[in-house]
Amino acid sequence: MSKVIVFAAPVFFLLIAIEWAWGLYKGRNTYTLSDAISSIGLGMLSQLAGVFTRLLRVGIYTAVYSSVAVWQNDAFWLSGYGWLLALLLYDFCYYWLHRMGHESAVLWAAHVVHHQSQSYNLSTALRQTSSGMLLGWVFYLPMALAGVPPFVFGIVALVDLLYQYWVHTEHVPRLGWFDRWFCSPSNHRVHHAVNDVYVDKNYGGILVVWDRLFGSFTEEREPCVYGTRKPLNSWDPLWANAQVYAQLAHDSWYARSWADKLRVWLKPPGWRPADVAARFAQPTFRLADVRRFNPPTSRAVQAFACLQFVLLMVGVLAFLWVADAQPLARMAVCWAVLCTGLWALGAMLQGRIGMLVMLLLEVAALSTATAALGLPEWHYVFKPLALLLAIIFVASNAHLTGVTSFFSSQNRLTALLLAALCCCGVGDVLLMLPGLFVPGLLAFLCGHLFYIAMLRQGQAWFPGRKALLATLAYGATMYALLLGYLPTALRLPVAVYVLVIALMAAQALGRANVLRDAASRWVAVGALCFMLSDSLLALNKFVLPLQLWGLAAPFWVLSSYYAAQILIALYAQPERVVRHFPNENAVKAALEPQASSTYQPVDLRP
Ligand SMILES: [Zn+2]
Ligand SMILES: [Zn+2]
Repeated sequence: MSKVIVFAAPVFFLLIAIEWAWGLYKGRNTYTLSDAISSIGLGMLSQLAGVFTRLLRVGIYTAVYSSVAVWQNDAFWLSGYGWLLALLLYDFCYYWLHRMGHESAVLWAAHVVHHQSQSYNLSTALRQTSSGMLLGWVFYLPMALAGVPPFVFGIVALVDLLYQYWVHTEHVPRLGWFDRWFCSPSNHRVHHAVNDVYVDKNYGGILVVWDRLFGSFTEEREPCVYGTRKPLNSWDPLWANAQVYAQLAHDSWYARSWADKLRVWLKPPGWRPADVAARFAQPTFRLADVRRFNPPTSRAVQAFACLQFVLLMVGVLAFLWVADAQPLARMAVCWAVLCTGLWALGAMLQGRIGMLVMLLLEVAALSTATAALGLPEWHYVFKPLALLLAIIFVASNAHLTGVTSFFSSQNRLTALLLAALCCCGVGDVLLMLPGLFVPGLLAFLCGHLFYIAMLRQGQAWFPGRKALLATLAYGATMYALLLGYLPTALRLPVAVYVLVIALMAAQALGRANVLRDAASRWVAVGALCFMLSDSLLALNKFVLPLQLWGLAAPFWVLSSYYAAQILIALYAQPERVVRHFPNENAVKAALEPQASSTYQPVDLRP
């Protein structure tokens, strides 16, 4: 089934290109680059998630169908009337799923993704949730009970979904009688609008008749303002999927009464227990206050984002093409790489990271994946490249922040950081080659000594005694565990290595405790990731081969290793050119004054 989307993708993009060109020609362009990339990226994530939730969607449906279906009659369902009835049934179930998606908070948490865009165009149609099928499958069980065969169900589900693509446009005006029978551009614009008169209306997938039957229909009368009443204001695809879940978890956590803790999830979206609402007040929604989120980006970032987007798209389509034939664990590795890429793309578009850091994140993810998937030729390329990019990032950052002389403390810090990264880079290459474990260990030992010297800049030795004791105790335990398995020749080098890395982590933790800022905390987290990565590596090499959730040691060792290197490279320098987290002013500056539709409903009837 994933392959159908691969075939549909070129059609989707052709239509997007046509709509965009038409908008430019008519002087009513409804696209912005970042929004379109964000929406399509969420569609890609949703398709990736679909591969993993297939068991829920197809498995449960098939199980119910084959055990308790009331009326199994394949000949009927495969006839013309059968297909039509199945589509009608599906559209009816979809209406209720969609309606509950707006009227129950936990379902809204999944569905909200489709509504977060403040633009309304064909790319908005592709903007889909990744968590929708965790609960959504329940709504289609009546079809399994009625005896609609899984194959027929799959096809009508696809038809219902694909139909809804074309209605996401502002370039098709009201269509008269069609608007009152079918889901159409006009009545679906209404569905995506936050205007008081429009909110929670027009849920129908193909037929809008359901809305007229159950009292949720309204016509387009005033210009639509698109989005959600609690705007996302972010291009982060993971946060887009988590936004409402996080809010519900927060409210549920702080609610005093146990009933309220549960009610938060089931009541309509926006409902909050009185004690929580009083403690954590939120602004009331006013249409006039709506602002458009669109942080400015340079030409270079735009061009780079387009290139990355195309590469990620190719990756996702390749993933969907082979998904059916691959073991889940291998797919999970590919999924992690694509997620990293999509996250980094959003982060770059909103100015959290620069192009170099985006590239660094992607190459680190690819280095991890090529090791986990057993692709040594590619791994030999990506592994050295990852640390090379980290070195270039640190050096260019130092250059841009005006490091000229190596005698100030900040410059010494940068020099030590670069020395540490260079040693680790050499260690990476040595460990990749057979028979060079001890030289590799030595290179990393030097790297950690440079890290300790770097973390010592402007600080006392080991400012936190408790942290020192804890990391030494951990190191001693780990060494005791390894001792029985270590060859005699390796006992001393490994002991020294364990001691040095424990000291490095202790220095980082103590420094974070003195400085008490976010950057030094991230560096300390990085140091702890180092300990974790090295522990996993040693256990896997000397004690027993590790395997977790079907993934072998290289995945866990390298992902924690890159987390360590990247966090330290990004946060150790006191001044950075690239912002890593947008401060409130930056987000406010990125909000443009108006967010109203370019479409004015013309044939307004009295
Ligand atoms: Zn909706
Ligand atoms: Zn829609």
